[in-house]
Amino acid sequence: MTFQIFIRTLILAGLTLQTACSIETEQEPFDRIFLNGMVIDGSGAPSFIADVAIHDGKIAAIGKLSDKKANERIDISGLVISPGFIDVHSHAEEALINPELKINKGFVTQGVTTSVFGIDGGYSSPDVAAIREKLKRQGIGTNFMFFVGHNGIREAVMGMDDRPPTNSEMNQMKDMVRQAMIQGAVGLSSGLMYLPGNYADTSEMIELASVVSEFNGVYESHVRDPADNLLSSIDECLNIATEAGVAAHPAHIKAVGGKNFGVAKEIIQMVNDYQKRGLIVTADLYPYDGAAARNLSDLLLPPMDWPEAEKLLQILDRSTTETTRQRLQGELDDFWPTALQNAELRQQIKTVTENPPEGIFSWIKAVGYSSFRIVVAKSPGVEGRMVLELAEATGVDPFDLLADLIVQEGKTPKLTLGAIQESDVRELITQPWVMISSDGREAGKDGPSGHPRFRGSFPRVLGRYVREWNILPLEEAVRKMTSLSASYLKLKNRGLLKQGYNADITIFNPEEIIDRATWADPWLYSQGVLHVLINGEFALRNGQMTGETHGRYIHFEGITETTTN
Ligand SMILES: [Zn+2]
Repeated sequence: MTFQIFIRTLILAGLTLQTACSIETEQEPFDRIFLNGMVIDGSGAPSFIADVAIHDGKIAAIGKLSDKKANERIDISGLVISPGFIDVHSHAEEALINPELKINKGFVTQGVTTSVFGIDGGYSSPDVAAIREKLKRQGIGTNFMFFVGHNGIREAVMGMDDRPPTNSEMNQMKDMVRQAMIQGAVGLSSGLMYLPGNYADTSEMIELASVVSEFNGVYESHVRDPADNLLSSIDECLNIATEAGVAAHPAHIKAVGGKNFGVAKEIIQMVNDYQKRGLIVTADLYPYDGAAARNLSDLLLPPMDWPEAEKLLQILDRSTTETTRQRLQGELDDFWPTALQNAELRQQIKTVTENPPEGIFSWIKAVGYSSFRIVVAKSPGVEGRMVLELAEATGVDPFDLLADLIVQEGKTPKLTLGAIQESDVRELITQPWVMISSDGREAGKDGPSGHPRFRGSFPRVLGRYVREWNILPLEEAVRKMTSLSASYLKLKNRGLLKQGYNADITIFNPEEIIDRATWADPWLYSQGVLHVLINGEFALRNGQMTGETHGRYIHFEGITETTTN
């Protein structure tokens, strides 16, 4: 009997040994092991020190792995290792279709591994398909997903008509949404502030968003009138989603413009009310006290019968070449300071800028002076001031205040079109349903008039809101960049550091990570992110771009969830 037990023990041991061996030959040597990292797994759970092994593009193991074999062992003592950041609101695709910019440097250096495009009403389904295929063919530095956009669809079907769609047009638009969802879109995005999206009423949006609900998708919206009717605009977004039976996601949520200072609390109350009634609501936020920024002179419109109007229209025309655009822009930049010195011309510019003709967009008309804060100016006592406040204090008409600055400083002065109060940013950023986004662009044709959020958003949250200001715990901030975003996008195997998940990984120094981009120089890259891996391969190594493009198109999987539920 003893002998038999001995044999059985041997056999069992042999089997066990064999099993262990087969696992190890499968996994070991791992492609690489990161040793002694401070693991923040993205779930919001407390950090812990451990090793992380990567193999075949996946996270192979997390734990004590120092005795395991690997082709590469990298000690990351003192550094945080977390899931790669997911940027749920990005306009970078406009630049990424340029092969020179495809590595997506401005975002990889922030730790971003997945970018979501087609937001704010973006593209029709054929346009989404065309850009997607182009990006897949030429390669891209981050993973990417797409929304299909209401503005793009409406323009493709109805042109720029300001009227409700006919039945047949509605059916064409619905087919386009369906087509895009079949091809993997996350959902429908809208940009109701912009044309032609603005021509759509709520019922049109409900009908189109209903198509998305068949796929368990999302309704994402740049809301209709954030400066003058913020709360009712967000309410419209949540109502559309409720009626359509989809999740709601008001984009880049903010209490924007002077009239809305302090309104964050009311936004939160409204969202919580909808959530209590069962609607899934999330939002994203970029961590800055101002929305889009422009040179002051870019707000001006010339009377339509001036030659400058022709130049402006040509600049706005997508088919205009970059060289021509730059030449025309230069001519306009020279023109404004001179023209504004002439009282009669100044009056004419003021009239058309404040009351533009039908179909011409003017920021001063769209959001009003009360939204503006000057963010860059040389003249003393001007930078950082609200335009209306300053106009009142100096007894000058707000248009004249801007005009005088252009005369004195030319192209230098900049303002944010939508000032935001820092306290409102803090109210919103700490809400558990608010994730981080960049609303960013790569430095392409929009280069000169940038916003610091393009290159600074994620490191700014980790450097300022976490380290310097203690507004957010580090683990919670990382959750807002990873698993929260992944669950919004219904990603199955990204957004957490977890065995078997795709190895999208960001490694940063929690003591050094910081944004450097400012209003005056928005194109400065962030610091403190050391390594970024996309699908297991380095995009950033020791702070340097590898130049490799390991990003993949991520097909939305909401539909799988519906069928398995
Ligand atoms: Zn937007």
